[in-house]
Amino acid sequence: MTELTGGSALPQERRVVTAIPGPKSLELQARRTATVAGGVGSVLPVFTTRAGGGVIEDVDGNSLIDFGSGIAVTSVGASAEAVVRRASAQLANFTHTCFMVTPYEGYVEVCEQLAELTPGDHAKKSALFNSGAEAVENAVKIARSYTKRQAVVVFDHGYHGRTNLTMALTAKNMPYKHGFGPFAPEVYRVPVAYGYRWPTGAENCGPEAAAQAIDQITKQVGAENVAAIIIEPVLGEGGFIEPAKGFLPRIAEFAKDNGIVFVADEIQSGFCRTGQWFACEDEGVVPDLITTAKGIAGGMPLAAVTGRAEIMDSAHAGGLGGTYGGNPVACAAALGAIETMRELDLNAKAKRIEEVMKGRLTAMQEKFPVIGDIRGRGAMIAIELVKDPETKAPAPEAAGALAKACHAEGLLVLTCGTYGNVLRFLPPLVIGEDLLNEGLDIIEAAFARL
Ligand SMILES: *Cc1c(COP(=O)(O)O)cnc(C)c1O
Repeated sequence: MTELTGGSALPQERRVVTAIPGPKSLELQARRTATVAGGVGSVLPVFTTRAGGGVIEDVDGNSLIDFGSGIAVTSVGASAEAVVRRASAQLANFTHTCFMVTPYEGYVEVCEQLAELTPGDHAKKSALFNSGAEAVENAVKIARSYTKRQAVVVFDHGYHGRTNLTMALTAKNMPYKHGFGPFAPEVYRVPVAYGYRWPTGAENCGPEAAAQAIDQITKQVGAENVAAIIIEPVLGEGGFIEPAKGFLPRIAEFAKDNGIVFVADEIQSGFCRTGQWFACEDEGVVPDLITTAKGIAGGMPLAAVTGRAEIMDSAHAGGLGGTYGGNPVACAAALGAIETMRELDLNAKAKRIEEVMKGRLTAMQEKFPVIGDIRGRGAMIAIELVKDPETKAPAPEAAGALAKACHAEGLLVLTCGTYGNVLRFLPPLVIGEDLLNEGLDIIEAAFARL
């Protein structure tokens, strides 16, 4: 058990002993409402006491099965042994010096690991930051500095963060952008290969969508004006859309032919989540720059931009950084998380989760026509719900109702998608197979009752 759950001491079981949320959570929720800004939401207002392996324990003594990993963060579990050990040791030595004032080895070691693990055998360098949005912003700074160009191309359904520049890069208005403009200029959005909704069908989608995207870039922006093309190799918040085959390699080739920096935003899809270290490996795409965060440090805030040394070095000395970027405790946690990923072979675990989930979900789809599409890779799996499999009209109410039903039974699931009609499953990669199946039983029962 200890090994399977990455060292979590928590009993790996679902336990529902009160209504969810229970009375103590409701009390805390009242205090929260009085003092926490209303714009900061929570999927499920159940207040956490401990979490680890595949479960989250709350103040009322409930133990929930975790199919969210704090949005694809705690892939190694929320209290993985190596993360706790290394971060605790670092915490006792020093919490901070600021790498820009006096450096420390942990930062360098994380950059060495990133150079080794990311695709491509070219010379690589990295810079570390605190959040995914900050990494994406810095990728844009670096690409502009290298190319001496300004335009940035992003895609329909893309998500890249909530800071001003990354709001501009993000596709969806509500809730991410609404009322928060004006947004940064020189950002252009083009079509992505969304196979399930492509008018001429999924088979034609990859090459057709790539041709449309490239046509728009050349006609509306001018390839020679583009500093960077930024894409998530599997789109996260936009609905776990895997760009149809051929799309990513074609866009990467176009970028290369035109001196454009190709940036893979692997903040959600990276670090074993899809059954590979990085999702872009699936079609052999080697990005110029890659942004990482979420799964990198077992729950501690850390983010990185990694890429070709000559691009990374193009920013002038002192041009990149930040007070906390690459915090020593977060770096120690990252080294513990990466150690856990290697030792427990979490890529293999993610592939096994895919096998179990897709098997069960495919059987459900035969019974429940509301399940329009099953997609994703590894432990990044989603189902898109529709009112009718022919028209594919989105069914966000069904997704909301299903999530609610799962929560009441002690299974934490998340929704996503441009139309709000996608249920996404992001269990910690260390979840036990019994819990995984119990979670899927709950989903199946919820569909039966819908
Ligand atoms: C979550 C996410 C971000 C933003 O990361 P934060 O740490 O929330 O700033 C950027 N890109 C992708 C693909 C993400 O999933």
